[in-house]
Amino acid sequence: MDTKQDNILKGIAAAPGIAIANAFIYEKEKESISDESITNVDEALQNLDSALAQSRKELRKIFSLAVDKLGEKRAAIFDAQIMILDDPILISTIQNRIKKEKKVPEFLVEDEISKYTRLMNASNESYMKERSHDIEDIKNRIIRNLKKKKLRSRILNDVVVITSNLSPSDTVLFARADVKGYVTDFGGLTSHAAILSRSLNVPAVVGLHEATNKIKDGDLIIIDGFFGQVIINPDEKQLATYKKKLEKLTEHDEELNKIKDLPSQTIDGREVKLLANLDVSTEMDFILHNRAQGIGLVRTEQLFEEHEEFPDEEKQYQIYKSIAEQIYPDVIIIRTFDIGGDKVLPVDLHEPNPMLGWRGIRLLLDSPDLFKVQIRAVLRASSHKNVKIMFPMISSIYEITESKRLIDECKKELSAEKVQFDKNIGIGIMIEIPSAAVMVKEFAQEVEFISIGTNDLIQYLLAVDRGNDIVSKQYQEFHPAVVRTLKHIISEGKKADVSVSMCGEMAADPFAVPLLIGLGLDSLSVSASAIPLIKKIIRSLNYKELQVLADECLLFKSETEISKHLHHFFNTKIQDLIKNLIRG
Ligand code: PEP
Ligand code: MG
Repeated sequence: MDTKQDNILKGIAAAPGIAIANAFIYEKEKESISDESITNVDEALQNLDSALAQSRKELRKIFSLAVDKLGEKRAAIFDAQIMILDDPILISTIQNRIKKEKKVPEFLVEDEISKYTRLMNASNESYMKERSHDIEDIKNRIIRNLKKKKLRSRILNDVVVITSNLSPSDTVLFARADVKGYVTDFGGLTSHAAILSRSLNVPAVVGLHEATNKIKDGDLIIIDGFFGQVIINPDEKQLATYKKKLEKLTEHDEELNKIKDLPSQTIDGREVKLLANLDVSTEMDFILHNRAQGIGLVRTEQLFEEHEEFPDEEKQYQIYKSIAEQIYPDVIIIRTFDIGGDKVLPVDLHEPNPMLGWRGIRLLLDSPDLFKVQIRAVLRASSHKNVKIMFPMISSIYEITESKRLIDECKKELSAEKVQFDKNIGIGIMIEIPSAAVMVKEFAQEVEFISIGTNDLIQYLLAVDRGNDIVSKQYQEFHPAVVRTLKHIISEGKKADVSVSMCGEMAADPFAVPLLIGLGLDSLSVSASAIPLIKKIIRSLNYKELQVLADECLLFKSETEISKHLHHFFNTKIQDLIKNLIRG
């Protein structure tokens, strides 16, 4: 494809696939609030009610978490926000104005609440000025909830969403509206929005910088999620080319379907288990269809993004049990909430560096009530002995022993309650922080298995934000430091006799797979859609050659050398079919 044509934008290929559809420009931040008139007053009042209820729910969730972490005093901010939502004078004023002026509720919410913030800002008291930010927050929350309603009904289906930035929750929300693809100005390959697009099988190109500038609502768009390019209003030739590519893709899918029931092993008999990552519950059918040999990572925090609040123990138990039963007798690894970072932020803490902040196991150990509810639910779902539990963001031995202590506590409680569970439930940890990689020998003594989270490991090892396209060139999975760190983790893990898997996105990169197997990984956990292709690759390789390949890569000093070596290996060893698949 000629990328010099001026209707082509180049970005980062974030989720494979091709889509041809009309553009829908989603302006999240800049959404203007118009004073549009309404015709249906009852519907507007109802929308206001639901937005207030939703905001209340969100704030309650935030409040309960904030109490644990910040203490009653600081958490009171959120309680105060809930009180504003319940202020009868404010609410009835807005309601009356909707009835009288017949304007959209978001305009009146903005107008009424802004009166308060203006007054507070005019005050000389710094305390009052600070409070005005809280009120501003609540105003934005209500407006966002009012808008979401509108958004759902506006995005019908068959559109490509064009936006400056995509959050994980947007990704799920839009996918439910049957969106055909994503195009963003910002974002990196391993941002959670990109991972989710792959899980949801929605092609995505991110980091285009000028997509929202150049693309207009309704433009016909081609997304090429293999090459990372977007074509705006394609000419006839471009359209015909891509229609043909789409046909070819279907043929390739059929080709890959044929090996579905064959084992995932190299030509010389080395078995490499292929498991699936699960982010959204709708993936389950796909996971079974593509014959995953288990579920190597359940991102529970994503799973519950589909719910309005953290589900209680019973609800979580039902969800875990259902997944465990569907995949039985294969194993499911449930990772406890990895909240924070770029994922569902439970508390509006405005952390200066969320990726280095209150995330994963740190938040869980600071919120033992929340943590124990989840542990109990996982234990209860383990009675058929095919459930394992895994902790995210481990960086110290204390975090492992303390988590295990809480598991023991939950086990005792459940035994006393005469509830069934697997007394020997497998416990594992993610190795995704450099300190854990360094300490893997000692950490491995504490657990049954380890799983390498390359998305974070690379980010923290190289000090490169995984979601920032500006530094995407520096986010290098073939950096010698990454390859050598992987080698260290795998060898030390094996010496300690634990199983070593990888569930980061690197495991689904066709060019990385020969290296990873050569380094000795026992299993790979990838998004369900990647399983057939990765299996096809594994089945075309010779383990003995891969060990040599890995040893060669360990000697190189630069990313360029390793990358070149792996591409050369791939091009000479892997069949044409796979090359075609990757190149579209
Ligand atoms: C990882 O960091 O590689 C990983 C699998 O976890 P997540 O992408 O959810 O942070
Ligand atoms: Mg991670």
